[in-house]
Amino acid sequence: MPFMQESTLYGRVLGLANLGLMVLDTGQRIVFWNQWLASRSGMAASRVQGLTLLEAFPELEGQRIEQSVHTALSSNLPAVLPQNQNRAPFPLFAAGTWGGERIEQAVSMTPFTEGKERFCLVEVVDVSNTVGRERQLRGQAEALRAQSYVDGLTGIANRRHFDVALDRELRRAQRQDAPLSLLLMDIDSFKAYNDHFGHQQGDACLTLVAEAFASRLQRPADLAARYGGEEFAAVLPDTTPEQASQHAEVIRAYVESLKMAHAPKAVHPHVTLSIGVASFDKERLHDAKSLLEAADRALYIAKREGRNRVVVGEPD
Ligand code: GH3
Ligand code: MG
Ligand code: MG
Repeated sequence: MPFMQESTLYGRVLGLANLGLMVLDTGQRIVFWNQWLASRSGMAASRVQGLTLLEAFPELEGQRIEQSVHTALSSNLPAVLPQNQNRAPFPLFAAGTWGGERIEQAVSMTPFTEGKERFCLVEVVDVSNTVGRERQLRGQAEALRAQSYVDGLTGIANRRHFDVALDRELRRAQRQDAPLSLLLMDIDSFKAYNDHFGHQQGDACLTLVAEAFASRLQRPADLAARYGGEEFAAVLPDTTPEQASQHAEVIRAYVESLKMAHAPKAVHPHVTLSIGVASFDKERLHDAKSLLEAADRALYIAKREGRNRVVVGEPD
């Protein structure tokens, strides 16, 4: 096919189209290039005529686009480039603004035969607006989640909710001179779990453990929360250290009894928790920070002593 100028009616129409249209021959030489591409690449049709795709766009060497063109031409199968990877494969810019931000693109390849020769039609659509709107919506969803009190993955209370509840319950304990306890728990060998089963199943495991642990807390004032990645915490108002360690033991034993298979490299064959307990003490442990530190120290000892156990912490 000789290089097609946009002089025919078809050429005119293709030149007016609001998308990039390029045709490559089997040698990946450019045999058609419409006005949309010319104005967004800064290269007129006469300049790219006869160049290979890589001569026109050296940066595409070894990139997905190059592979897809090759596959389309050799296997005669159309392809749509996945957009989750490179959203702006071609160096294209809003008409007349080269050097600004690249246009975000949806690219598809359609091989076809004309006479005895095979060609590949490459279509490039500007999806910057859609992508921008998507991004904006995602940002809004994240902002809403940050303001919320629920952990997005497990559905139990999040860290923020936990912090607020702990503060409130601490003030009440102080006022009423009532007991208050705190549990800090961490899944044992969870890195090995992720490494073995994959992150997605890791997430599912986290959700199951969260549900199991939350279901063991009975009083309405008790609060079960996801404290961090694979760490959970509970605020237990009106609960003495002895009662709290009993609760912790019930939780620990329950999670163990679920017999969720663990990774071969884990310390125990099933998914288990280590739990640190700390309790409010008017004289020695009366603020959130020192209570959390005491629970964390207890948790650390539980890990050190072999995991899958409960340790009650002492003030530093
Ligand atoms: P230990 O018994 O000492 O607690 O060992 P560990 O492997 O559980 O401890 P470590 O803190 O080294 O690893 C925690 C792992 O938890 C690392 C991280 O990849 C994983 N993790 C944290 N948050 C998430 C999450 O939201 N989803 C998944 N799937 N994994 C998470
Ligand atoms: Mg951890
Ligand atoms: Mg852990």
